[in-house]
Amino acid sequence: MRSRGKFKIINKDRQLVILVLLSLTVLAIFSSACSLSSSREININGETKSADLSESLSTMTPTTQPAVADLPTETPIATLTSTPTKIPPPKRCNTPMSLMLHSDFGAERMEALAGVIEENNLITITYRDLYGEYFFQGECPPKEALLVSLDDPKPNDLLPVFRDMIQVFIEHDMVLTVGVITREPHDPEVWEYLNAIQEQGFDLASHTVNHADLLTLDEDEIQFELEESYTHICDHTEECPLILILPMGNGSEDDDVLRIAKEVGYLGIVSVSKGEIYFGDSIPHIFKRGFPDMESQDETLVNLRLVFQNW
Ligand SMILES: [Zn+2]
Repeated sequence: MRSRGKFKIINKDRQLVILVLLSLTVLAIFSSACSLSSSREININGETKSADLSESLSTMTPTTQPAVADLPTETPIATLTSTPTKIPPPKRCNTPMSLMLHSDFGAERMEALAGVIEENNLITITYRDLYGEYFFQGECPPKEALLVSLDDPKPNDLLPVFRDMIQVFIEHDMVLTVGVITREPHDPEVWEYLNAIQEQGFDLASHTVNHADLLTLDEDEIQFELEESYTHICDHTEECPLILILPMGNGSEDDDVLRIAKEVGYLGIVSVSKGEIYFGDSIPHIFKRGFPDMESQDETLVNLRLVFQNW
């Protein structure tokens, strides 16, 4: 009886030990899954950054860090974050001049635009450059910076005019951001092309899956448009998009759009009329854009300087 009783006790102990081990394993799996889902890594010009900007910013903004004297002596500061970045982002910057182009602009005007850019000593940058070369270096872009974006190429049907327009910029050693509509089916050859220009310094932004006006969609549909297009670009190229270009420029004041964009991993949203200034700690940043003049590219620059007159 005693031995049976002892056995029973041992068995109970074993059950207890197994139960504890099982709980610990489940906890470990759960916590690693949580940490995976809460911090996505993004690639900015070859450097890997945490896309969880709230975490990154808290490590970059000195005011939000606990004073060294307040920290327990055995806590090394380096372990406060997995991706320590020493340079705090700028508190606020003027949005650089930004020009929105579509296929109707065409390669000929693109050539004229490139000439005006050169004559005026402007520097073309992409939104990825805005983050990689300036924001994450603690700087605002210079006054000569010009963001050019080309909207609406689709991986299922890339119109030849897009390639012609992009080719003009390649020949002038200039860069732009391509706003891709990622509706399926996809032609692998187009992704190959998009990868090739990405390698040359062009940036790929999401212009959603279906180019629907986000203000007409419910929360689930907005989630789909923002997340699915993000995933398409991540899956088919080397870099996940940093930027969401709003279809028709609508949604920059919609709480659902802003919240979901941030959750998905976008750092910035490109609007039309909103976003003359962006604040370092307010993600997603909102950037306004200007329109081209279809007659004269000198006039395009005059208009841009008017629209971005906060410089
Ligand atoms: Zn569009």
